Amino acid sequence: DYDKAAQSLLNKLIRSNLVNTTNQVEVLQRDPNSPLYSVKSFEELRLKPQLLQGVYAMGFNRPSKIQENALPMMLAEPPQNLIAQSQSGTGKTAAFVLAMLSHVDPNNKFPQALCVSPTYELALQTGKVIEQMGKHYSEVKLVYAIRGNKRKGIFSLLLSPVVIGTPGTMLDWCLKFKFIDPKKIKVFVLDEADVMIATQGHQDQSIRIQRMLPKQCQMLLFSATFEETVWNFAQRIVPDPNIIKLKREEETLDTIKQYYVLCNSKEEKFMALCNIYGAITIAQAMIFCHTRKTAGWLAGELSREGHQVALLSGEMQVEQRAAVIDRFRDGKEKVLVTTNVCARGIDVEQVSVVINFDLPVDRDGNPDNETYLHRIGRTGRFGKRGLAINMVDSRFSMNVLNKIQEHFNKKIEKLDTDDLDEIE
Ligand code: ADP
Repeated sequence: DYDKAAQSLLNKLIRSNLVNTTNQVEVLQRDPNSPLYSVKSFEELRLKPQLLQGVYAMGFNRPSKIQENALPMMLAEPPQNLIAQSQSGTGKTAAFVLAMLSHVDPNNKFPQALCVSPTYELALQTGKVIEQMGKHYSEVKLVYAIRGNKRKGIFSLLLSPVVIGTPGTMLDWCLKFKFIDPKKIKVFVLDEADVMIATQGHQDQSIRIQRMLPKQCQMLLFSATFEETVWNFAQRIVPDPNIIKLKREEETLDTIKQYYVLCNSKEEKFMALCNIYGAITIAQAMIFCHTRKTAGWLAGELSREGHQVALLSGEMQVEQRAAVIDRFRDGKEKVLVTTNVCARGIDVEQVSVVINFDLPVDRDGNPDNETYLHRIGRTGRFGKRGLAINMVDSRFSMNVLNKIQEHFNKKIEKLDTDDLDEIE
């Protein structure tokens, strides 16, 4: 599933800071009678000095919420298995990278830690973290088990304690080419399990790698979401796991003022938008359209009116999309026009005005309440007031609006765009 992997990569590219959450972590210990350790500082972990230096060089002052519990488990002796779930940006990667680097012995010049990732690009991102974290621990080398890297691989593999790659190539390196002796692996990490199982074949390949590993090898699995299918897979990869979960902050409409504007056509919606443009650009605004075509058209029309807008669209490369989001986050652009699909799963926290140029509907044309909430809702942490304006241009969309209103039991007021006193 390309979309899932792209979304995940996009989140990594735009995530420059830890996501804050006030939710409590949920910890399920394999042995409920053993004491539960949590740490408030990196010093308490007794990391190798080179690694502690690496942690500080990355600007980390204290463990993230998930790291407080995950790190002591991962670094314990004997090492413990772990399944951890929390949204993107909560510190999972940093945690397992520390575990991998802690457990390998750089004097042993052969692979001892494996990490499988769903795509080449995601593997590279994790590789970068390994390199940053291991900056002061340069004896620990890293090699990428990705397609096309075979020949280069042979030489460095004889030396590299850490291998990161995609499941198919990793399996080939263990089984077919025997670059890796699975029996010597001490840590096995499976990252982005939810993205992994969305790709045909990855699940089986991962399980086949896992079966070659010794019993005492530490197994770690991470996922941003946790549906039944992910959970079933996780249990096949990680025997006797400890489990850590961190709920996503719940979104509400409580601090949002919701309006709708009644129009007769796309052009009228555009004119209404121009009327309120001054009012919405006091803050940063995101405008959602149903299709790429509408988004492109709208961005073009707004530019023609002399407004500076950014367009985020599905046909752009992931890197291009990340650059657009970065500029918007930095406030270089005030208005971002995008499609529903393209913006799904991306958090741009500072947006305080959302325009639904088209109301969110699912494939069958039913109101998509979840998307509506995610677009305009706020979490407790970013609980400042917001404004949402819905553009209605047909009886059909009026019906969708009414259903959304009923679903959330929150009134959506009519806005007269010729008289804007209300939203000021
Ligand atoms: P995840 O794997 O859950 O998506 P990451 O490990 O990539 O999360 O962390 C998200 C962001 O937060 C990254 O920019 C990372 O450098 C940073 N980060 C991770 N742990 C900490 C920490 N303890 N303190 C400060 N920043 C951190």
